[in-house]
Amino acid sequence: MTDAPDGYHLETRLVHDGQKRTPYGETSEALFLTQGFIYESAETAERRFLNEEQGYSYTRYSNPTITMFEERMASFEGAEAAQATATGMAAVTAAMMGQVQAGDHVVAARALFGSCRWIVEDLFPRFGVGCTLVDGPDLDAWRQAVRPETKAFLLETPSNPSLEIIDIAGVAAIAHEAGATLTVDNVFATPLFQKPLALGADCVVYSATKHIDGQGRCLGGVILASTEFIETKVQQFLRMTGPSISPFNAWVLLKGLETLPLRVERQTETAGFLADALHDHESVRRLIYPGRPDHPQADLIRRQMSGGSTMIALDIEDGKAGAFRFMNALRLTKISNNLGDAKSLVTHPATTTHGRFTPELRAEMGITDGLVRLSVGLEHRDDLLADLRQALEQV
Ligand SMILES: *Cc1c(COP(=O)(O)O)cnc(C)c1O
Repeated sequence: MTDAPDGYHLETRLVHDGQKRTPYGETSEALFLTQGFIYESAETAERRFLNEEQGYSYTRYSNPTITMFEERMASFEGAEAAQATATGMAAVTAAMMGQVQAGDHVVAARALFGSCRWIVEDLFPRFGVGCTLVDGPDLDAWRQAVRPETKAFLLETPSNPSLEIIDIAGVAAIAHEAGATLTVDNVFATPLFQKPLALGADCVVYSATKHIDGQGRCLGGVILASTEFIETKVQQFLRMTGPSISPFNAWVLLKGLETLPLRVERQTETAGFLADALHDHESVRRLIYPGRPDHPQADLIRRQMSGGSTMIALDIEDGKAGAFRFMNALRLTKISNNLGDAKSLVTHPATTTHGRFTPELRAEMGITDGLVRLSVGLEHRDDLLADLRQALEQV
């Protein structure tokens, strides 16, 4: 783990950074569950609205608890600025919408989280923004997709659910050569294992709903970039359209950051243990785990990630029927479309999160009928292994 610019290690900063104490001297971060703020005088209100005086005015714009979460996230990511949002999708939508206007064009990797793909593929064309989807790992495909009006690139790595890896530095270089920006959805890697900004990306987005909360309670999102990017592309869009995070959710997520390294490191260790133990099981046609040396992109993973992942993809024998028998036989591991939780969760992408795509499109994204995505939680690894093994026996 690297040293902080101010000399403190990451774990220390995630416990302390961003905290603003009130005169009461509270230990824990204060929760400012308020819509608005009182002005001392009419003149103060006037100056705040003219932006001549710093201070809070309305929680749709900003709020001290939300600021604490944003500052802690910015410290974590090594970003100049952060802007929290109500959900991960609000973060992706604002980050991308804030960068384009009618006539512009975006290039995105085709293996995207379902809703992210809908934004660029279905929503953008309604407003005159063109979109080309490419095979993310193929750098030539990104190059060939560029048009004179290309303004922004979007990718997710490792991708959901097939855990495919995209070369962030390589794609960033192509984007910059084309005068475009690169936005990376970094949910699967978490801020602990991959730093897209340091690799050349211009903007990073998270669904804080996942590992940042880590205990399945609150929705949230965050956009991280340079101050200039946030102020010119994102802030006005968010303030005026209003997908603000609740101060309560920001507070839960702020506390989640204190324990994120402990949780994600343990979950990743367990995931590596399970991947090794189940890799050769006769009911597993293929197991994909970014922490294993047999991942087809192991070299790239070593270059751009500092840890595996809390996620494993398993292609179960006998397609959908086999996958369903496996999932229904699990006792400890629960069936859910969520991930990054303390509880281990499995998803069958072909019939849920990616069910709206044709079988051909799913095949392009590496989603077979037998694919099961496993999000590894905080249970004891031996209990999880026993559960997964007994369920695999039912396949
Ligand atoms: C969950 C998720 C999102 C959306 O986040 P919400 O908080 O559910 O809106 C976006 N991208 C990825 C990769 C995700 O896993």
